[in-house]
Amino acid sequence: MENGIEHVKCLIIGSGPAGYTAAVYAARANMNPVLFTGPEIGGQLMITTDVENYPGYPEGIMGPQMMEDFKKQAERFGTDIRMAMITKVDFSGPVHKVWTDGNVEIHADSVIISTGASAKWLGLPKEDEFARNGGGVSACAVCDGFFYRGQDVVVVGAGDTAAEEATYLSKLCKNVHMLVRRDEMRASKIMQERVLKAENITVHWNTEAVEILGESTVEGIRVKNNKTGDSQVLDVTGFFVAIGHKPNTDIFGDWLTKDETGYIVTNPDRTTTNVEGVFASGDAQDHVYRQAVTAAGTGCMAALDAERYLAEKGII
Ligand code: NDP
Repeated sequence: MENGIEHVKCLIIGSGPAGYTAAVYAARANMNPVLFTGPEIGGQLMITTDVENYPGYPEGIMGPQMMEDFKKQAERFGTDIRMAMITKVDFSGPVHKVWTDGNVEIHADSVIISTGASAKWLGLPKEDEFARNGGGVSACAVCDGFFYRGQDVVVVGAGDTAAEEATYLSKLCKNVHMLVRRDEMRASKIMQERVLKAENITVHWNTEAVEILGESTVEGIRVKNNKTGDSQVLDVTGFFVAIGHKPNTDIFGDWLTKDETGYIVTNPDRTTTNVEGVFASGDAQDHVYRQAVTAAGTGCMAALDAERYLAEKGII
């Protein structure tokens, strides 16, 4: 405490794979990390069911259980985990100031940002429920596509993500229906070409999803052509929403350099940002890979970068 204000060496914001991994490394390096979980404790994996592509779990694992394991591992080495949000920061000085949702000011020598990103959803009834209970709604084809092998699925969206997801799913699924709300796609030409060339992808132009059918899992999607008003039911078991992600970086305002979508820009091959002593990891800075394992990897990198920074400053 300095003048009644808590001072920490390493403050971590976010509790997904990046944040907890950073915490494991920082705690083992005697950086006494304090981790603020944020509103969705455990991050995006809390709305995932089976995770089968994280190395080390040969039988797969439920997303929430995996995050509990990450948390326990971070706690084992003494991470101080606090269930609160950071709502404001001031990165103007050598000591970084943050405020919690209870308006408590904390000073930190280093800050590791791992606030993640949130998938955008359409807001249809059952969408959130089915996404949380493994009912056939997903925002990640690489994570969940495997469960729909040989089946028919819908992909919503017309950007690069949707094109990539549709192409990925076309290699696993029998038929992929891509719903594009306008008469053109936003995706890059090469990605569009891949979609249009795939024999088992049907693009439905000017078409929107209006209803998810099924009691506890997806049994069909009612779609409507917004030009003709014609409606039809697509007989599918999977519904992939790919209308973009929003990085959770609003609280960093103009302190940090971000790209046009809001992802924090880090220096090439590093987690360093434009502010000394502030490091960014996971989906808050990665719009390309967005996997649990890559987020964990950059969380590790951020802790190592922070450790070097604190050592150079003689703080640890
Ligand atoms: P984008 O914002 O580029 O695209 C979102 C898409 O979703 C748009 O086609 C939009 O339609 C559609 N959409 C939005 N809201 C709705 C809705 N309510 N109903 C129906 N459709 C909707 O997001 P992406 O995630 O695709 O891409 C984000 C960034 O990441 C881009 O810069 C992209 O280039 C990049 N990226 C690059 C990849 C690569 O290079 N391999 C892979 C994935 C992403 P509309 O066009 O009508 O607005």
